[in-house]
This record gives sequence, structure tokens and C-alpha cells, in this order.
Amino acid sequence: MATLIRNGRIVTAVDDYLADILVDGGRVRAIGVDLAIGGDAEIHDATGLLVLPGGVDVHTHLDMATPTASTIDTFGSGTKAAAFGGTTALVDFCTPVAGESPLKGLEDWHRRRESACVDVGAHMILLDAHPGTLEDMKTLVRREGVSSFKLFMAYPGSLMVDDGALFKAMRVAGANGAMTCVHAENGPVIQALVDEAVAQGLKAPKYHAVTRPAILEGEAVHRAICLAELAETPLYIVHLSAAQSLAAVTEARDRGIAVHAETCPHYLFLNAEEYERPGFEAAKYVMTPPLRELSHQAHLWRGLKSDDLQVVSTDHCPFCFNEQPHGLRYSKQQGVDSFSRIPNGAPGVETRLPLIFDGAVVKHGLSLNRFVEITATAPAKLFGLFPKKGTIAVGTDADLVLFDPVERWTIRAADHHSQVDYSLFEGREVTGRVKKVFVRGQCIVDGTRWLGREGMGQYLRRSESGRP
Ligand SMILES: [Zn+2]
Repeated sequence: MATLIRNGRIVTAVDDYLADILVDGGRVRAIGVDLAIGGDAEIHDATGLLVLPGGVDVHTHLDMATPTASTIDTFGSGTKAAAFGGTTALVDFCTPVAGESPLKGLEDWHRRRESACVDVGAHMILLDAHPGTLEDMKTLVRREGVSSFKLFMAYPGSLMVDDGALFKAMRVAGANGAMTCVHAENGPVIQALVDEAVAQGLKAPKYHAVTRPAILEGEAVHRAICLAELAETPLYIVHLSAAQSLAAVTEARDRGIAVHAETCPHYLFLNAEEYERPGFEAAKYVMTPPLRELSHQAHLWRGLKSDDLQVVSTDHCPFCFNEQPHGLRYSKQQGVDSFSRIPNGAPGVETRLPLIFDGAVVKHGLSLNRFVEITATAPAKLFGLFPKKGTIAVGTDADLVLFDPVERWTIRAADHHSQVDYSLFEGREVTGRVKKVFVRGQCIVDGTRWLGREGMGQYLRRSESGRP
């Protein structure tokens, strides 16, 4: 049956107008004023609501296992949470096992993502740049639709690669239509600071932030840009949090270098004061990079306004605060005796759209178009999903969000659909709320009602990345 969405205010990265949308076969069939429908159709009245393209979140870690910890959301629960937050497509990070082929890692990832409720693609994390791995990169881009790779400049001894490996991977990515994503922090220097702190008995959660200063992010971002420039590859800085990093990105973009960056809601709304919370509470805010001093925020908002920052994604990497009911493996409590053992990561996939609408449009004067661009269109374009995802036009996937731009409500973890037991934004009041969500034409969220099902999400085979 066809679906008709009537009288909505359609907002894309460039358009803003009142019209009806007719959906059939999972796609937008027609857009017009007073659209006539022949035969049966499911009708949704969008009077007073914005009709937005479904959000695209290109940074999540669902059902991710490290040797010591696992994220608490399966693809089923994580994508349901995403949907309630108006996000209908994810690009999730696939972490292969060290020494194994990334292709094997992707196979395992596919098994886990079968429970997804919205459409999901994969970035591949590379733990080395051995000849076999470089060969696999080409197969991943051409055969598997995985057109972006992430490498770590942090976490020596586990995830980090050295600059030579990073450079080799960048060259292969650039020559094959893929984006190189980088976690940019100076890992060895951070390790030295962590060891020093632990030796001095400084073990409270706040030392996570103290030992990862902004200057070491800025240094690594600058270094990554130099390597990418030499390798002639498009670069994407994940979870940029610091003014120093943004300055490096801005300088490079001004010279015409293909550097892109995302920031995350927690860097835009929270700051290092959270680490002064009593007891172990501050562990909730242990993510990497850490929350920065308040002064960084104005720079990030300026970056979003001026397009020096292109994307806001969540880095949804949920570990429970409490040990029960899921066990220590899923919990921050692992680090109760030392910050160095707190699993790094925080939840956020469900609150991105309302938070950014409230912050960007209501409080910082960004346009509605720009709001859509940074939460849907730009990530879709940068990662090979556009125009199937990230906009509303005849022929695109009918991933649509009906959004009330005036409703005020309060964020509470108790109302969330993630399995995690806390929110970084508990008690925060925001303006703007997701009312209905459609994935390929099917209404899966209707107010607080869940109409989706696990397994309905499709795999997103992506085309080339890094060609905005
Ligand atoms: Zn991440």
C-alpha cells in the first residue's frame, strides 16, 4: 500500500517548502501540492511538522567486543534507539580481530547486524597495513561496499598503528575511492601521562581527561592531515573535540585539502566540569577524547556554522554505569579502582537530532537547512550513501522523520530504548521532538509506539567515499 504524508514542511539541506509526499515501494514516488491518490493509501497528517530526511549517524559501535569489554547495545536495540531519535541509517565500525583478515571481521559483523531495525553500513577498522590487509582494502571497497577505513593514532599496544602504516593505508584508500578516518590523539605520549598518573596513585575518573590533553589531539590531527596531503587521500577526523584540532582542519581546508571532520553532541553541550562529580559518577563521562574545557565549545559551533566542521555524529559506544543486570564486562565499574580500566565510550544515538536541533537552530542561529546538512546530507555524501539517503527527492529511499519544532521535553534515560542505564544529558530540556519515523516508507515510530521489527534493516553497500 502507498503512503501519503500530507501538509508537511519539507526541509532538506537546500529546500524548505510545504507539500505532500507520496511513497510507494519504499521510495518517494511524488512530491506536490494537494497530491491526488488513486486507490488505498495510508495517510499521515504532518500539519505543523517538519518533514526531514532520516538522520544519518556515521559513528556507532554496536555489539562491539574488545578483549576486556563489550558495548551493551545489540544492533536490534541500538538501531531501535536510533529510530526513536530520528536516525534511519548508520555506518557502524567493524573491528576485526588482530592478525585476522578484515574480510573475516566483516563476515562476523554481518552476523551481528542481522537484527538491525534501520539500514546499516560498515566502516572497517584497520589494525595494521600488511600487504594482505592492503589487498583486502580493495576487495572491501569494490566487492563489499565498505568504502571507508579507520585507523587509530591512539591506544598503543592494542589499536594504534604507527605513522608508516597509517600512510600506507591512506595511499591505498585514496587510490581506490575510499575515505580514511582517523582517531587522532598522540597515543604514546598519552600512555606516558597515564602511566605517570597511575604510579602517583591518581586513579579517579577525572584523570582520564587530565592525561589526554587537547594539545595531543591537535598535534595528531595536524600530523594526520600532513600524511593525508602527502598520500593524496580524503581524510575524515572522527570525534573532533578541541579548538587546536579545528584550527588544523580549517587551515588545511582553506588550502583546498580534502579534510573533513565530525564532532559529537557531548563536545557541543558538555564540558570537563562533569569530571568533578562526586564518587565514581564521573565515569559516565569517560569517553575518548574526553570532554574539554568550556572554551572549546564556541569554536566547535563556529566550525559547524562555517562548514569547517561538516558532520555531527554520536560515537554511540554504550557501557552501563552499573554492573547489574548485565555484568562487569558491559560496565564502567571495571574501572572503579583506576580510571585506566574504565571502558571508554558513552551512549547518544537516540538524542542526536533533538539536541542538535535545539542547540543549532534554536540557540545558535544555524538554519534548518544547515541542521539537516550536518545530521543527514553531509554524512550521506561523504560516505557514499547519497542520494539514496540524506535527502528527500523523487526516487530516494523514503526515510522520513516528522519532527515537531516547538515541543519542549526532557531527556531521561528511563524513556530511552537503548539498553544502557544512563544518559549524558539526563534532565536536559530541549525544544524539538521526533514524532514519526519512516524507513523505506514503513512507519516504524509513531510517538511512543514502536512499529518496527528486528531484522528489517538492510545492509548499506556504499559507493565511493570522500567525494563531497
Ligand atoms: Zn568511536
